Amino acid sequence: MSSDRIVGIDLGTTNSLVAFMQGDIPVVIPGDDGLNLVPSVVALDENNQPVIGNAARKYLTETPERAVYSIKRLMGRGVEDIQQELKFFPFRLAEDLQAGEVLRIRLGEKKLGEKTFTPPEISALILRQLKRNAERFFGAQVTKAVITVPAYFNDAQRQATKDAGRIAGLEVLRLVNEPTAASLAYGLDKKQSGIVAVYDLGGGTFDISILKLHDGIFEVIATNGDTHLGGDDIDNLLITIALDDTLGDLGLDLRRNAEAVQAIRKAVIDAKIALSSQPSVSLNVELPGGQRYLREITREQFEQLIQPIIDRTVGPCKQALKDAGLKPEQIDEVVLVGGSTRIPKVRALVKELFHREPHTDLNPDEVVALGAAVQANILGGGSEATENMLLLDVTPLSLGIEVAGGVTDKIILRNSTIPASATQFYTTQVDGQANVAIHVLQGERELAKDCRSLARFDLKGVPPMAAGMARIEVKFLIDANGILHVSAREQRSGKEAEIQVQPSYGLTDEQVEGMILDSFDSAEEDFRRRQVIEARNEAATILAALDKGKKSPAWGHLTTDEKKKIAKMEKALVAVNTEDDYQAIRKAIDALNQGTTRLAELMMDSAVSTVLKGKTMEEADMGEGPTAPHPMAKAEFE
Ligand code: ADP
Ligand code: MG
Repeated sequence: MSSDRIVGIDLGTTNSLVAFMQGDIPVVIPGDDGLNLVPSVVALDENNQPVIGNAARKYLTETPERAVYSIKRLMGRGVEDIQQELKFFPFRLAEDLQAGEVLRIRLGEKKLGEKTFTPPEISALILRQLKRNAERFFGAQVTKAVITVPAYFNDAQRQATKDAGRIAGLEVLRLVNEPTAASLAYGLDKKQSGIVAVYDLGGGTFDISILKLHDGIFEVIATNGDTHLGGDDIDNLLITIALDDTLGDLGLDLRRNAEAVQAIRKAVIDAKIALSSQPSVSLNVELPGGQRYLREITREQFEQLIQPIIDRTVGPCKQALKDAGLKPEQIDEVVLVGGSTRIPKVRALVKELFHREPHTDLNPDEVVALGAAVQANILGGGSEATENMLLLDVTPLSLGIEVAGGVTDKIILRNSTIPASATQFYTTQVDGQANVAIHVLQGERELAKDCRSLARFDLKGVPPMAAGMARIEVKFLIDANGILHVSAREQRSGKEAEIQVQPSYGLTDEQVEGMILDSFDSAEEDFRRRQVIEARNEAATILAALDKGKKSPAWGHLTTDEKKKIAKMEKALVAVNTEDDYQAIRKAIDALNQGTTRLAELMMDSAVSTVLKGKTMEEADMGEGPTAPHPMAKAEFE
C-alpha cells in the first residue's frame, strides 16, 4: 500500500466519515466498531483523556460537562457571533476569553480539573480518529487529506478547518465545498454542463445549493438554508409527544427524568429510521423502573407529524432558485445529501420542488465523503478517467478593503472561480502620510462596518509625499483552498508589506504549532486560584441572568412564594461571592440555579415549543430531575 495515499473526509456537524478511492470506486472506511459514521462528539473521560465518536456519546447524557457536540458550528467564529449557538447548545466557554481571541470550550468537571479546547482542536480530535481508522485499514501512515466544508463557509471558517487538519497531523491538500463533493460522487462533472441542485438535510442543519456546471467545473451560484433544522427537530418532536402521552394519559411526569428521556430518545430515533423503510413500527420503550411505553406508529401518522418540519425547507429552496435566477424546470440534476433525506416524504417533497427525480443511489450520509475521496484521487494524480478533470470552486463572498469614508471597495467579487487573484491601486489621503492602514473585508455590503472584518495591517514607512501622490498596489490572492493572501506595495518608493493575513478568530501559525506539540498535556497550575476566579465569574453570570429574568414577562408567572425563595438564594450567593471559598460559591450557585429552573424554562425560547401548537413551555420542556415510579403507558397518535 502506498503511504502517500490521500483520503477524503466529511467533517460533519453530526457525523464525520473518511473515504478513499478503491480502483475507480470511492468507499467509506469503517471504524474499529465496524461503523462508517463517526459521531462528531468529543468527550474527556474520567482521566481527562479524550474519547471520540460512539464511545463519547454516553457522556452527553451521563456527564454533559465532559462532552461537546456540533463543534462545527463554532469553527472560525468569535464570541460575539456565537450567541445564537449558545442559546441552542449549553457549551461552556473559557472564562478568561479576551475580545477577538479564538474561542475556547471548557470540558471536564470542576472537582476533577477542567481543560479548555479551541474549536479547531476539538475538530482535530475527530480528524485524528478518522486518520487512525484509515491507518488501521491501510496498515500504513496517512498524512494527506481533502476535507469538505459547507459552501457558505467564510474565510475564517475555512482557515479553522485547515488548522484542525494540521493539528491532527494531516496535510490538507484542498478544502472542497460539500455540494460540489456530492455532485462529484455522482460523477455529474462528466456531463460537462448543466444545473445541479443539492438538497442537504442532516442532523441539525439544512443547506440548499445550486451549482452550475460548465466545462466540467462546478460553480456555486446560490446557497440558502436553515442552520437549525434537521433530524434533531424530528427526534425532539417525537420525544415531546411520548412525554405528553405518559403525562396526559397516566399523569406520569417523566420530563425531568433524564434516564427516561434518554431511553425514549433512543427508541424514537430507531423508530424514525425504521419508518424510512417500513410502513409502520411499534415503539416499545423500557422505562427506568421496569414499566413500558408502547405505541404503534404508521408511516402516514409520522409523515403528518413531520410535515411542518420538512415544510421549513421549502422557503430556502425557493429563495435559492430566485437568487440563481432559475425556474425549477431549469434544474437538470438533483442530489440528496444528509441522513434525513432517507425519509420518503422528504424525497417526495424534493421531487415536487424541483420537478425532478433526485439521485438516490448513494447513501446520502456518505455521499459527501465519497466525493471528497474522488477529489483526493484527482489531486493525487489518480486514475486516468479523472486525470484531466479540472475541479474548481468559487469564493462565496466578495473580498475587498475599506477606503475613505468607511466604504467597501471590492477587489475579488463573490462567485469568482478560485484560485483567483486581482490587483487594485490606491493612494494616500493626507499629505506626508507615512503609514497606510489596510483593512481587509469580506461581504457584499457597501459600508465597511456592515462587512466582516478579516484582518487589518499597516503599510509602513511610505516616504513623505503630497496626498494623492503615492501609488499603492494591493494584491489579493485566494489560493486553491479558498484562503486569502493580501499584499500591498507603494510603487514609487518600493515599500511593501508582506503580510500574513490571519482571519479574525483564526489561529496564528505559532498557535497551531504549539497545539500540535502540546495538544493535551497542558499543565494544571494555580488550580484553586483559577477555581475561585471561575466560580466568581459564574456567579456574576447567573446574577446578571437573574436580573434579566426579573425584567422579563416570565417573572410575572412565578408565585410570590417562588419569588421569595429566589430572593433568599440570591442574597446568599451575593454574600458568599466576596469570599475566597470557591466550593461555597459554587454551592450557592447550584442552589440558585436549581431555584431558578422554572424561571429559566419560562424564558427559554424552546425550538420544540414552536412545533407544538397550544402547549406551554413547561409542558414542552425536558429536563433532568428525580426519578418517579411510573406504570406502563399505551396511547395512539392523533
Ligand atoms: P450531518 O451532515 O449533520 O453531520 P448526517 O448527514 O449524518 O448529519 O445526518 C444525520 C441525521 O440523519 C440524524 O438526524 C439521523 O437520525 C438521520 N437519519 C439517518 N438515517 C436515517 C433514516 N434512515 N431515516 C431518517 N433519518 C435518518
Ligand atoms: Mg453533512
